[in-house]
Amino acid sequence: MPIRELEARVAAGIAAGEVIERPASVVKELLENALDAGASHVSVEIRQGGLAHIRVADDGCGIDAADLPIAFRRHATSKLSSLDDLDSLGTLGFRGEALPSIAAAAHVRMSTRTASADGAAFIELNGGNVAAQGTEGGAPGTIVTVDALFSSIPARLKFLRSVPSEAGRVRQVVEQLALANPHVALTFITDKRTTFETPGNGALKDTFAVLFGHEQAEAMLELAPSSHAAYKVEGLIGLPSLNRANRVAIRTFVNGRWVQSRSLTVAIEEAYTGMLMEGRYPVAVVLLTVPPHEVDVNVHPNKREVRFVREGDAFSSVQRTVRETLTSRVPVSEARTLAPVPTTMGSNSRTLSEQGFDFTVALSEARASLLPLITGAPAQPAPVRPLSRLRILGQIANTYIVAEGPDGMYLVDQHAAHESVLFYQLLHRWDAGAPEVQPLLEPMPVDLSPDEQDTAASAGDELHRLGLQLERFGESTWLLRAVPAGMERASPEALLRGVLAAPHQLGGSQRHWAMAASIACHGAIRAGQMLDAAEMARLIEALENASDPTYCPHGRPTTVKLTTGMLEREFGRA
Ligand code: ADP
Ligand code: MG
Repeated sequence: MPIRELEARVAAGIAAGEVIERPASVVKELLENALDAGASHVSVEIRQGGLAHIRVADDGCGIDAADLPIAFRRHATSKLSSLDDLDSLGTLGFRGEALPSIAAAAHVRMSTRTASADGAAFIELNGGNVAAQGTEGGAPGTIVTVDALFSSIPARLKFLRSVPSEAGRVRQVVEQLALANPHVALTFITDKRTTFETPGNGALKDTFAVLFGHEQAEAMLELAPSSHAAYKVEGLIGLPSLNRANRVAIRTFVNGRWVQSRSLTVAIEEAYTGMLMEGRYPVAVVLLTVPPHEVDVNVHPNKREVRFVREGDAFSSVQRTVRETLTSRVPVSEARTLAPVPTTMGSNSRTLSEQGFDFTVALSEARASLLPLITGAPAQPAPVRPLSRLRILGQIANTYIVAEGPDGMYLVDQHAAHESVLFYQLLHRWDAGAPEVQPLLEPMPVDLSPDEQDTAASAGDELHRLGLQLERFGESTWLLRAVPAGMERASPEALLRGVLAAPHQLGGSQRHWAMAASIACHGAIRAGQMLDAAEMARLIEALENASDPTYCPHGRPTTVKLTTGMLEREFGRA
C-alpha cells in the first residue's frame, strides 16, 4: 500500500500519544516498522543507551523512493486508511506518528530500497526538517539511524535514567519483540558488542534460550493447545520450581503485540494455584491470538494495553491452557509438597481462635508494632516481651514445633518464628549501624531488570547497611559480593531480587523495614522442613531472646498457646 496522510477525521479517531519518551520507545517503533515490513533479519544497534546512536536495519519490503518524504509527515501511514481498517489490523503500527515524532527529536537518516528498485533512496532530517535527500547504493530493505536523541530537548533528557538503565529498557523492548517473533532473526548490539542474536528458526524455546539462558529454557514447558479454550494460546511456561519474587517474568502478548494486561497476568497466576508459595510468581511467555475485530489495540498511546470484546474468553483461554499444561506435566508430588500446609487441627475446620485458643498477644497490639511497615511511620521501639523458657517436645507436620511452657502448651510456626528472629536481628544491626555480612565465596553476577537496577542504585546505602554488598559490573549485570550474616539458607540471587522488589510493595520512608522483612523471609527456615533437636533448640532460644517474638513481620503469629486450663476443660477435668 502507498503511504498516505490520514484524513483529519481518521487521524482524530486514533488515540494519539506522546510516543517517544525515551530511547526504548524509538527502538520499539523502528523495530515494529521493520517487523511490519516483513523482515526476516533485523539488527538493532545502540550506543550510550541509545542516546548517542540507534541503528535499525532490516531486509523488509522497503519504501518507494517517491513515498520516502511522505513517511515522515504526521499521520502518514501505509497500514490503514479508514477507522474500519482497525478491525482487520495485521500490523503493529497504524497511526503514522512514529517517524515524524522521532525526526522532530533527533538527527534521523533513512536509507531504503524496495526489491524492484535499482538502488536505495535516502533522506536526512534534522529536528524534523529535511536536510538532505538523494539516492545511493544499498541492499533491499531499510536502515534507519537516529543520532543525538533529545539533544535539542533538554527537558526530555531530565526524565531519563542512567545509561545502563536506558540500555536495559531497550533490551527489554528487543526481548519482547524477539519473543513475539521467533521466526525473525534479531541481532542486538550494545556499544559495539553483540548482546544476543536470536536464531529466527521459528522455535520460541530457542529464542528464549538465547535471551535468558539454556538452564532457564530447560525449565520451560511448551503450552499444549486446549480444547476448552475459545482463543489460541501458545507459549512457554515455567515449572513451578522456577519462580520469582515479582511479576517481571510474566510476559503477555496479544496478536504479536506485547501488552501489560492485568487480566491475562491474573489468569496465568491463577493457573498456578496451589503450586507456588504465596508471594512467588511464575515465569511465562504467553501469546494469545484473537481475531483483530475482537480486540481494541487503540486504547493506549503506547498500545501497551488492549481491550477485549470478550474479556472472559480471553481470560479463561489463558487460564485453562496454562493450567492444563501444568497439571499434565508437573509431577503430582511437586504440586503436593508446594501446596499450603493446612493450618487447622484435626477434622475440625474451625480455626484455633474460634475454638477459644489463647493467642499470646492480642492481634491489635501486634498490628500496632507492624504499622510502621505498612505506613512508613517512624518505628517505635518494640516492647520487650520475652517468652518464658520452653521445653521442646517435637515437631508436627515438619512445620510446627511443640513445646511446653510454665502455663501450657506452645505451638511455634518455625518459618514465622525464624522470620521474626531474623527480622529484628537485621533491624538491630541497622540501628547500630553495624551490618554483619557473610561474603560469598565467589562474587555472584546477577542480571537485573531496569527497575531492579534503579532500586539497586537509589537504595545503595540501605542495602549496604543491611549487609548486602552489591556493585555495578556490566551493562545490566551487578556483582553480589556479600549477603547479611545468618542467611545461608537463602539463595543469594532470590534474596537480592526479593529485597529489590520490596520497597515497591510497601513504599514509605522506612523502606529498610520492607527490605529487612524480605531478607528475613528468604533467610528463614521453611515450612515443611524437618528439624533436628539441636536446630529446634537454637530456634526456640533465639525466639525467647527476640524483642518481639510473637508475630512475624507479615503479621502472622509465630506462636499459639494452649493453656493448661484449656486442656483441663477439653478433658473434662475442670
Ligand atoms: P506507522 O507504522 O504507524 O504506519 P510510522 O511513522 O512508523 O507509522 O511509519 C510510516 C510509514 O513508513 C509506514 O506506514 C510504512 O509504510 C513506512 N515505513 C516505516 N518504516 C519502514 C520500514 N522499516 N520498512 C518499510 N516501510 C517502512
Ligand atoms: Mg510505525
